[in-house]
Amino acid sequence: MTLSFDPDSLDLPSGHFIAGRYVAASGGIDVHRPSDGVAFAQCPIAGRDIVDQAVDAANQALRTSGWASLRPRERTKALVRWADLIEEEAVTLARLEAISSTRPVGQLIAGDIAVTAEQIRFFAEFADKEGSDLVPTDGNSLGMIMTEPYGVVGAITPWNFPISMAGWKIGPALAAGNAIVLKPSEMTPFSTLHMAELSVRAGIPAGLINIVLGDGPTTGAAMTGHPGIGKISFTGSTAAGSAIMENIARTGIKPMTLELGGKSPQLVFADADIALAAEAIARNILANAGQACVAGSRLIAERSIAAPLAEAILEHMSRIKPGPTWDENSLYSPIISERQIGRIDRIVQAAIDAGAECLTGGTQLGRPGYFYAPTLLASVDQASPAVTEEIFGPVLTLQTFEEEEEALELADHPIYGLAAGLFTRDLSRAIRVTRRLQAGTVWVNRYGRSRDHILPTGGYKSSGIGKDLGRDAYLANRRSKSVLINI
Ligand code: NAD
Repeated sequence: MTLSFDPDSLDLPSGHFIAGRYVAASGGIDVHRPSDGVAFAQCPIAGRDIVDQAVDAANQALRTSGWASLRPRERTKALVRWADLIEEEAVTLARLEAISSTRPVGQLIAGDIAVTAEQIRFFAEFADKEGSDLVPTDGNSLGMIMTEPYGVVGAITPWNFPISMAGWKIGPALAAGNAIVLKPSEMTPFSTLHMAELSVRAGIPAGLINIVLGDGPTTGAAMTGHPGIGKISFTGSTAAGSAIMENIARTGIKPMTLELGGKSPQLVFADADIALAAEAIARNILANAGQACVAGSRLIAERSIAAPLAEAILEHMSRIKPGPTWDENSLYSPIISERQIGRIDRIVQAAIDAGAECLTGGTQLGRPGYFYAPTLLASVDQASPAVTEEIFGPVLTLQTFEEEEEALELADHPIYGLAAGLFTRDLSRAIRVTRRLQAGTVWVNRYGRSRDHILPTGGYKSSGIGKDLGRDAYLANRRSKSVLINI
């Protein structure tokens, strides 16, 4: 079966998804196809009334299904059925995502969807493995730390990996006994809607997963300030994370996890396997055309090997296969929007004007569509916006060092601390440098997430608060109650 499809004849889900059915809505924000720039649909904007409806539906579903007090294995079984159905419906899901996102349909099938199903099963399995603890106290008392779900979790996700992000949020929230109201990005709403529809078909009680569509300032703010939402789980930019914290502080305190932006360094020492490093570094910055929070966009290489390393990376960069996301042969993503491709180009040109050497790229890749050439900038100043700002594009900067200490200084970012990579054959150095890197994840002699879902992901500094994935993500969806019983 071919995965390629005609973007003009795809059936799109429409409206919000509340209490197990679509709620009609019209108007809203234009949704574009990044592959050809065509505005092909609109994303409605839910106001407070629709968010109220979704929160009410979630509470009602929790009450009638008894989801939080089911034998936990029942939650596991329902979530595993959902994961199975996500895999069965992979082609439909992939097409609904590919049309408005930057993810090529073939990569969605081979990567995002299979991994998301695996992650949902991973979280489902926690439901009966994490419990309350008895604590030591005197003989006349029984002390325990009981854990409970929050009730309704509010989740807000970005456009760069819509299916994966929905899985990261919904999997642990439901396994932990909560219901969820989720707002996907207004640029990529369709695959998340279909995932919610599949959850009902899988037997997850209607109303436990509600999807409200809309933008940040209206719909997102209505969620973060909603008294009926017990906890916020957000993934997106650091700027939006700040706005969310402010709104939460103003409207009533509630717990939140924030997975935010990054500007991650990759350190390559002279004793590293250069071919391996080049392959990992290039693969990462080319993946989703650099539109990943953990993109290792700052290459910091020991001076003696910088030239051969750059050569090998350029070789990988020359082999991209750009093409529309609806063509199964496309292997290189477009940039999400016209605004974003303009911003990437402005940062690159400013760096070149300031003296950076452009070893490849630095241009758009023709029209229609928002494709940007893989770009390698050498001799870039540490203060250049190309080095300090999260570009969210296929742009790698190359800086060089002589001493380990200098490499660590260059690696340290004043704001971000999401991830870091280092390549060396020296085990002592690997451990020493790992300990000093200010990042929530460090990859050694590889770069990028694996299928080891037990490893949590999250940032140091302004890259976030709390973790997604791993046991942490499950526990972040439960809260503890201390109980002392007088016997
Ligand atoms: P964004 O912050 O513009 O939007 C993310 C989501 O937040 C969208 O759904 C948007 O509508 C909503 N939003 C925006 N302002 C809001 C507000 N004031 N209140 C409530 N909701 C609001 O980010 P984006 O452009 O969609 O995604 C790219 C960003 O996401 C990058 O910075 C990237 O690093 C980050 N990201 C982080 C991770 C991680 O795990 N740390 C993963 C993926 C993406």
